[in-house]
Parts: sequence; C-alpha cells; structure tokens
Amino acid sequence: MKLPSRVDEKLPEGVSRYYASLAESLDPEKDPIAAQFMRTDAEDHVLPHECSDPLEEARYMPVPRLIHRYPNRVLLLACERCATYCRHCFRRHFTGQSDGQIRSQDLARAAAYVGAHSEIDEVLISGGDPLMLDDARLVDILDSMNAAVGIRPLVFRIATRMPVVMPARITQALAKRMREHGQGRVWIVTQVNHPREMTSAFAAAMTCLVDQGIPVLNQTVLLRGINDDLDVLTELFSGLLRVRVKPYYLFQGDLAAGTSHFRTTIDAGLDLMDGLRDRLSGMAMPTYAVDLPDGGGKIALTRATVRGVEDGYYILLDRNGRQHRYPYEDRLADAVMG
Ligand SMILES: *Cc1c(COP(=O)(O)O)cnc(C)c1O
Ligand code: SF4
Repeated sequence: MKLPSRVDEKLPEGVSRYYASLAESLDPEKDPIAAQFMRTDAEDHVLPHECSDPLEEARYMPVPRLIHRYPNRVLLLACERCATYCRHCFRRHFTGQSDGQIRSQDLARAAAYVGAHSEIDEVLISGGDPLMLDDARLVDILDSMNAAVGIRPLVFRIATRMPVVMPARITQALAKRMREHGQGRVWIVTQVNHPREMTSAFAAAMTCLVDQGIPVLNQTVLLRGINDDLDVLTELFSGLLRVRVKPYYLFQGDLAAGTSHFRTTIDAGLDLMDGLRDRLSGMAMPTYAVDLPDGGGKIALTRATVRGVEDGYYILLDRNGRQHRYPYEDRLADAVMG
C-alpha cells in the first residue's frame, strides 16, 4: 500500500547545540553542516515521483512498527524523535510525527513476531533515532527480543546518528549495557556524511563503543553540494577507518518528498566510486547502493548493475536479473535549484 504524499507531513526542524556548533556559517548554500539541519524552501518542491513512504515500508509491516522485508532480518521503529532532524531524512513521514516511542504493547507484539519466525536472526533497531530512548528502555527492547527467541542467537543492529549529532549520548554505561543485554551481539550503524562531523568528541564515542567490543559501521548518504566530491569522500572514508569504523554503505538518495535538491545522478555516484577505488584501501570502500523505490529492497549500484537510461529512468538490475527503475532527474533537480 502506498501512503499518499501529504504536504502537511513536514519534518520538524531541530538541531542539537553540539551539531549546530559544528557549522561555520548558517548559510546552507555554503556550509555542509548547516545544509543538513537548516530547512530551505527547496523542501516545498515535491516531484511527481516522490512520495512520503518511498520504500513502501507500510506494505512490509506485519505488526505495528516492525518492517519485515528480507527473510532473515527485521527493522523495528523504536522511536520517532531525533536529536537533530536531517533535512534529507527519507523516513520523514514517520520521523518527528509524534513524541512517541514504542509502547509496551507494540514491543510485546514485535517480540512475539520475531519469536514466532525462526528465520529471523537479526533485528535492526531504528526510527527516528533509537538512542533518544533512555538506557533502560533500550535494554527493555534487547531483553524482550532475546526472551522471545529463547536460545536462538539474535544479532542487533542499532541505527543511530547520535555519535554525530550528540556524541555525549555514547557513554561507558550505555556501551556496557548494550554489550551485556545484547549478549555481546550488538552492532552500531551510524551516519557520518562529512569529514567535519568527525570531531574529537565523535572519536571518543567510537573508542567507547569499539573498546567495549561493539563494532561500528557507517552509512553515508550521498548529498549534492555536501559530500558529492572526491576529496571530501576520500577524507571521510579514510578518517572513519582511523577510528575503527567500517564504511558500509554509500546511499543514493531515496525518493522522499521534497529532497530532490539533495540527490545527485547515479552517474555522478559511479564516477565517485571509481575515483575512490584508486585512492582508498578496500577496507575503506563502502558499497554504493540504493533502496529501490518500488519496495524491492537495496541493490548495489555498479557499472554492471546500472544499465543506462531509458525514457527518463535508470534501468537497474537486481541480483535475480530483474529490472527496476529509478528516475533520471538531472534537469529536474537543476530546475528546482534554479
Ligand atoms: C536496509 C534494511 C535492512 C538491512 O539491509 P542490509 O543490506 O542487511 O544492510 C533490513 N530491513 C530493512 C527494512 C531495511 O530497510
Ligand atoms: S537521524 Fe535518521 S531518522 Fe533522524 S532525521 Fe536524521 S536521517 Fe532521519
């Protein structure tokens, strides 16, 4: 089921004091940090192929707040709020739409579902930002899931931007509890989009996690005018390795309403990937990927899977050789910007 695009579903504005302090200017045209938290009128331009639920997540929700799109892993929407609202957020129809966090009855239903589906071996905890929950509530989630599956070992993946927007949230106490209550199988996936986000406070947060045995991966969103530059991405991915963070995905922008000004073409992304491979260790290379607009899941974008442009759409091949479409919108984006 496709959720209708609603103009009144606006992503709230909000930024942590810490993240705002990283901006050198409050002009989103000039500063890559400001561009990620300052709302601009470009968000009012909604293109016909954009929608509020670009990945058709609603279609894959067997119980409230649980998305089951791949056989072995589920994604739990644990909390709607974030410490900073990223203007490029693709889950904007959900993020910030209420004050809420998962209620006990929804957690119980989600845990029961995971317990009843023995093919599930990984739970992604996402939102919003799940680290907006306090430690006790987070522990509740890990404990409920573990209790529901019994001896079946679950891996937990916590998707959070807190290390970037509020690194003080990553405490020793939190890292210890995640390790203990997640039975040593908690991974963190964060989102660093620009080298200026890798501050000493960010590095300290990474030390705190990795020293506790919690591996950290990073997902970068490819953002036009912010990080669609070979030098910027080289510095970003090599810098992440130095703080023991593995670059995991580089995401092509999802087709969320009012975000076209942030998207590059896929050709630009492929060129950047070629350039990076010449400069970076294989360990520092992320997979360039897109979440298919028709709810088809993620696919890697390479010279082999991107089969050119037809009628204004890129033709993309998935692992099974099936074709999918993603709009080629170079001129559209320019028109919106201009
Ligand atoms: C991205 C995503 C995953 C995880 O995919 P990986 O390729 O394993 O990182 C799982 N479930 C949903 C719904 C997702 O969007
Ligand atoms: S932290 Fe994540 S969920 Fe929150 S606004 Fe940013 S991208 Fe969206």
